[in-house]
Amino acid sequence: MKSLTSRLVVLGILQLVLLAGTAFAIFVAEGPHEPGRPEEYVLPDMVRRLEDAIDQPAELQHALDELSDHRIEVSLYDAAGQLIATNVEPALAFPRHRRPPGEPRTGPPLAFPREPHVMVRWLRVHGERGYLVARGVHGRPPGAIGPVLVLICGFAIVVAGALLTARWILRPIERLSRTARALGSGNLAARSRIDRSDEIGELGHRIDDMADRIERLLVTEKELLANVAHELRTPLTRIGVALDLAGEGDAEAARAALAEIAVDVGELEAIVDDILTTMRFEIAGGGAQLPLRRELVTARAVADAAAERLRARHPGRPLVVDVTADASIDVDRVLFRRAIDNLLANAHKYTPDATAPIELDVSQANDRVVFEVRDRGIGIQAADLPRIFTAFFRGDRSRSRETGGVGLGLTLAKRIVDAHGGTIDVTSSPGTGSVFRVAVPVATT
Ligand code: ADP
Repeated sequence: MKSLTSRLVVLGILQLVLLAGTAFAIFVAEGPHEPGRPEEYVLPDMVRRLEDAIDQPAELQHALDELSDHRIEVSLYDAAGQLIATNVEPALAFPRHRRPPGEPRTGPPLAFPREPHVMVRWLRVHGERGYLVARGVHGRPPGAIGPVLVLICGFAIVVAGALLTARWILRPIERLSRTARALGSGNLAARSRIDRSDEIGELGHRIDDMADRIERLLVTEKELLANVAHELRTPLTRIGVALDLAGEGDAEAARAALAEIAVDVGELEAIVDDILTTMRFEIAGGGAQLPLRRELVTARAVADAAAERLRARHPGRPLVVDVTADASIDVDRVLFRRAIDNLLANAHKYTPDATAPIELDVSQANDRVVFEVRDRGIGIQAADLPRIFTAFFRGDRSRSRETGGVGLGLTLAKRIVDAHGGTIDVTSSPGTGSVFRVAVPVATT
């Protein structure tokens, strides 16, 4: 992942490189910085050209300008030390160590500054010996313009970099804050959709994920409310009808209806129990910390009690119980029973053929007791399998059927089994049936 820090460092380096490049370009554009080299240009040919042009000012000027272009200053003197022509003001000094003819050989020693890049040549002027003094110079005297230009460009680069950085960091932050505001004001569809691989992108993903979860939670809460209302309505209507019948004096019909009401009330109780237990898990923070009132019970006792409950509730349903495990398990009896009861209740609910048997197998595999609930019901779509343990999830076919339930049974079963350090899994195929398997550790004492 590219972190914000490394991106900022890269940007800083880029700015530096850009600045260095600009400074170099300005330096180059200022022209050659090496002084001209007279020994390269003041060659015998050039000397001859100058000699020939002594009396032709235009031609002489032309030759001097050419030397000037090569960063060479030149001054020409005649034999008497008189300046004939020059391409620099003031003219280069006469080479006084070459005494002009007629000058007494007395006086202070004559000196010609032994500067580098200075050259003196004889020059024939009107048949006499004259002199050519040449000196290489820098292209242009270094001025303030270069550094000022570099400074201005540097400023522009820094400002552009700062604006870019601000745009690049502040834009998504503004988007995040807009999303947070929208979410806060109730628009749960708002998402930042920031597609970046740095810390800001990560923050965006987290906010979007959080919004997804909140949205799902609210939807499922609404579904729960709708399901609970639906679950309550049927038995309430029946109770209403039974009461009407009883009021009309038809005691026989009222008594018949009461038996159905008892079943409905039982289911209502189970639903309310599931909701309350789920709430307990939620409050305890996911199940692991839920205080379990553990006690030693035999696997057989759990299976028998669960089977008895199913038989009492659905006397017509064939149930085959096969217990081969003799081990005891250390569980919260009430909660663990709820998990097995929910699996059996589902097996019944989702097996429309009332004559199709349900099987409850309890066996021991190594240090685990395995409870297996098998049905030959409608089965579960492969796409639904990963979601059936999610709170309030109900398969499409379960929703459309009058099966009852609010989508908490399996969630609760899984949380209970998890809290006991066990595992729950399922194999199922639509039309064939389902097998739910709960494995919990054998009690060690
Ligand atoms: P509920 O039964 O209240 O809908 P559950 O959490 O118990 O909620 O189950 C979730 C979903 O899993 C059900 O809606 C159903 O679609 C599917 N399901 C659970 N058990 C079975 C089963 N034995 N056979 C087929 N589908 C099942």
